[in-house]
Amino acid sequence: MTVSIKVRTAIERSSWIRRMFEEGAALIAEHGAENIFDFTLGNPSVEPPAAFHRELRRLANQPDIGMHRYMNNAGYEETRTAVAEHLAKSSDVPVNASHIIMTCGAGGALNVVLKTILNPNEEVIILTPFFVEYKFYVDNHGGTTTEVWTDPETFQPDIDAIEAAITENTRALIINSPNNPTGAIYSAETLKALGEMLERKQAELGRSLYVISDEPYARLAFDGITVPPVFKYIRNAILVTSHSKDLALPGERIGYLAANPAMDDVSLFIEGAIFCNRVLGFVNAPALMQRLVARLQQESVDISEYQTKRDLLYDYLTELGFSMVKPGGGFYLFPNSPLADDVEFVRRAQQQNILLVPGSGFGAPGYFRIAYCVAMDVIERSLPAWKKLAKEVGL
Ligand code: PLP
Repeated sequence: MTVSIKVRTAIERSSWIRRMFEEGAALIAEHGAENIFDFTLGNPSVEPPAAFHRELRRLANQPDIGMHRYMNNAGYEETRTAVAEHLAKSSDVPVNASHIIMTCGAGGALNVVLKTILNPNEEVIILTPFFVEYKFYVDNHGGTTTEVWTDPETFQPDIDAIEAAITENTRALIINSPNNPTGAIYSAETLKALGEMLERKQAELGRSLYVISDEPYARLAFDGITVPPVFKYIRNAILVTSHSKDLALPGERIGYLAANPAMDDVSLFIEGAIFCNRVLGFVNAPALMQRLVARLQQESVDISEYQTKRDLLYDYLTELGFSMVKPGGGFYLFPNSPLADDVEFVRRAQQQNILLVPGSGFGAPGYFRIAYCVAMDVIERSLPAWKKLAKEVGL
């Protein structure tokens, strides 16, 4: 057998996702992509900002000697300084280049952090509904995950439930705001309460509990809201993020991790994380992208386009009788499934040529996810199909 038992089991467990993907692909082949409303993938529908193309052309036309060579495993000083300045300004916390490591996306950053901090069989708390890769990433580094539900009325973290889940073996908690799949933005009050609870627990247990704050959607916040800066409220916080969504560059694999300057043993953590970035085989984040994003820290895709799409779908679906928490950011909606069996509901949606992901894929049966990062025209053309689907499932 060429594939390990562990990987084979993981593939088999997620085979229904693959099956649904294949069924979706068959529908596209049968009816043509223009007649299928595909809301499954979190791939940005917008293009990177004009400044990205301008900088890319500038670099291509004026190449610097050595610009494609190996570098310090933490990344270019110029890029780390630009990122640190952006974070210091937005959080009012004295972050500097020594607290930043450039990574291969947020996914790369998460793996670097988990490898750096986890001892065998230590527990990482994840909040349901969750980005399913967290379970695989924690397992990559010998840890185990404990799932704790967020408050279903708001999808905000339930601080008491998190506290109850902390054991002698807990090492970290992963939070994600704006959230995939719910779109919830964690409020400053929630982060403050979480920070206070963790300080109390750390004193009680006599050791550090880390919060890994996964924030690739941080700039995708609507209605004039700014995502509260985690460093301001949580001392032992490590921020992981990328430019996959805010600059629409998921294929370029550029992101970073940042340690709160106030965290325990911050220099040792950074030293460990630089080592892990190297030995995980990432070596360093892509050189060309580092040079570009150093000059793009103030840039962002057009957020208003996502907000318009959220509003259109949220209003229309709510009117049809679907119920959901209104998301504050990101590019996902996470409504309640009108059928008790969310997988069955997603199959019924398929019959109307609407492709969705069941909540079960996020540890949350009874819901479904709509990724509305698709062209406006796809959303508009899908509306009659949603209407038929609502009637079909008895709304
Ligand atoms: N975290 C969350 C919550 C995500 O939704 C994603 C991607 O969809 C990632 C991390 C990974 O992002 P990246 O492309 O930067 O690795």
